[in-house]
Amino acid sequence: MKKRVVITGAAGFIGSHLSETLLDRGYDVIGIDNLLTGDTANIAHLVNRDFTFIKHDVTNYIYVEGQVDYVLHWASPASPIDYLELPIPTLKVGALGTHKALGLAKAKGATFVIASTSEVYGDPLEHPQKETYWGNVNPVGPRGVYDEAKRFAEAMTMAYHRYHGVNTKIVRIFNTYGPRMRLHDGRAVPAFMSQALRNEDVTVFGDGTQTRSFTYITDLVDGIIRLMLSDQNDPINIGNPRETTIEEIARTIIQMTGATSRIVYRPLPTDDPKIRQPDITRARTLLGWEPQVQLEEGLVKTIEYFRTKV
Ligand code: UDP
Repeated sequence: MKKRVVITGAAGFIGSHLSETLLDRGYDVIGIDNLLTGDTANIAHLVNRDFTFIKHDVTNYIYVEGQVDYVLHWASPASPIDYLELPIPTLKVGALGTHKALGLAKAKGATFVIASTSEVYGDPLEHPQKETYWGNVNPVGPRGVYDEAKRFAEAMTMAYHRYHGVNTKIVRIFNTYGPRMRLHDGRAVPAFMSQALRNEDVTVFGDGTQTRSFTYITDLVDGIIRLMLSDQNDPINIGNPRETTIEEIARTIIQMTGATSRIVYRPLPTDDPKIRQPDITRARTLLGWEPQVQLEEGLVKTIEYFRTKV
């Protein structure tokens, strides 16, 4: 009997890769998306497989017929410019959408996985960030809509686990990049690539000394599936611990694309975290997970993809 997985946000960057890998591994996939930031082009190649697409806003009751073994709740605007433009949908999908997705998992006796984020650590005062760190989040700042929605989603998930006995998992995702990111989604890697591939100025925010740790999409998907199949119920960071400054990633992308672009400095967005690096001891020891794709290798593949889009 094939296992059936429901993925909310299936037409998004991570959701579409997750759908594809689960199909490759023999699962039936039901993808749900309201296409607010997702795109059917990301899943068009899955239609002749064991993949069903339902266009639906998961802040409303989710109806799925028959057996469901896993519910993966990935729906959410996830780029800073998206959640600045869509503050209320971001709060609603993290709060109401998580409630509906948990309700579906409970009704079906399914395992539930929530896409959480390194943003739950806010502008962190502990470095690198362990799962035990409670974070430094500004609830009323512009990023608060995303950070607090995801923090609420984690609390709701643990409540369903403790009170209803649902088998739940929480993955805290660090910056991830790869093919199918939107050219104009505003995040550092697609922004720098689209600028460099057009020989335009590359816009570094602030002085570029802020750090991030970039994970290639296939490594992230592997970590998520390991967590989904594990017996772990506490949050687990999935992210590549290699930390780089934003200026360094901008320079690397300019050099790798052979662009003549120069770097220009723009104001740092409000509450932009100064440092970010996952402590992945839990993922290593509990899931046997380790990132496999080196930054340069992942950037080459991502540049190839963006070349076809600019
Ligand atoms: N950033 C930048 N230029 C851009 C886009 C982003 O310098 O055109 C910076 C941003 O201020 C942040 C880092 O790159 O410090 C990563 O930003 P991103 O939007 O990718 O994600 P975040 O980690 O902030 O959620």
